[in-house]
Amino acid sequence: MRRSNIPRVRYLNNHSGICISVPQGIQFPFHPEKAGPIKPVQRCGMEGCKQPKKYSCSKTGVPLCSLECYKRNLTLRQPTKTASVT
Ligand SMILES: [Zn+2]
Repeated sequence: MRRSNIPRVRYLNNHSGICISVPQGIQFPFHPEKAGPIKPVQRCGMEGCKQPKKYSCSKTGVPLCSLECYKRNLTLRQPTKTASVT
């Protein structure tokens, strides 16, 4: 039996382009992937900042876009320094 007679999927990627040859009787595409629900883009939690979220503050869990907002968040979250300690 010649190898070329074996039903198989061939994927060629050469200088002339990408080619996929599928033997008869095989459904193609094999298993169409279902697109999952698109997650809404979460925005940075800092007031006035509309950048998409990239990080979450490990301390406060606030969504953050940048180091700048991270620092800003920390500054805001810091307890107000009161001189009087009882
Ligand atoms: Zn931000």
